[in-house]
Amino acid sequence: ATRQPLLAVRNLEAWYGESHVLHGVNFNVFPGEVVTLLGRNGAGKTTTLKSVMGILTKRKGSVVFQGKELMHAPARYIAREGIAFCPEERGIFSSLSVEENLMLPPQVKPGGMSVEQIFDLFPNLKERLNSQGTKLSGGEQQMLAIGRILRTGAKMLLLDEPTEGLAPVIIQHIGRTIAQLKNEGFTIVLVEQNFRFASTVADRHYVVDQGRVVDEIANADIEANLEKLHAYLGV
Ligand code: ATP
Repeated sequence: ATRQPLLAVRNLEAWYGESHVLHGVNFNVFPGEVVTLLGRNGAGKTTTLKSVMGILTKRKGSVVFQGKELMHAPARYIAREGIAFCPEERGIFSSLSVEENLMLPPQVKPGGMSVEQIFDLFPNLKERLNSQGTKLSGGEQQMLAIGRILRTGAKMLLLDEPTEGLAPVIIQHIGRTIAQLKNEGFTIVLVEQNFRFASTVADRHYVVDQGRVVDEIANADIEANLEKLHAYLGV
């Protein structure tokens, strides 16, 4: 039998008002994979995640998750189907404690992680249980933002540049966490500009440029494609 993708995005187009920014994005994500969307600033990576989630509503094309077409579904329905989005800006509430921030998203599906399980994944967060969001380092905020979406019970995680602005040692921790989540059966779409980091965690990469997926690279082939990647990423 042929393997069915968990998520299939076809000819996805999206607009901000009159501004047409996605011009036909195509990619598949198979169960248990970590797939990245690589591309330079403004290529359309974040917009792709927001369109898949239904946060950006002016869109067309097809987004099929677990065999269901989600293109006309509202964001809350898409979340309930089991996709969770961790935005680049993290969305930590500064006046709330770590524990309160973790409790914010409802468990929308059975099987969401308990707060204890999230603390097992991120022991530093446990030490900061009662700290306010504002008192956390960038790395701790990122861990909290990822931990929080694990409560929802979603099995597909969309992570928008989790390494942005973080120190190398924290980036390594995020990388180990992603590997651990993959081992536990999560399927992950990771938006990255840092392909060095991406290559340590991903199975496959899609290159996004000017609102389209322009290339697909297996992680094993990344070294052979360095020149091309440099050109796409402008590094
Ligand atoms: P980045 O790493 O900067 O987030 P990206 O690849 O995720 O890059 P997008 O954020 O998806 O890129 O942006 C794609 C295009 O849409 C860019 O031209 C950007 O200027 C434009 N854009 C993004 N957000 C908005 C918005 N809220 N309103 C209007 N245009 C936007």
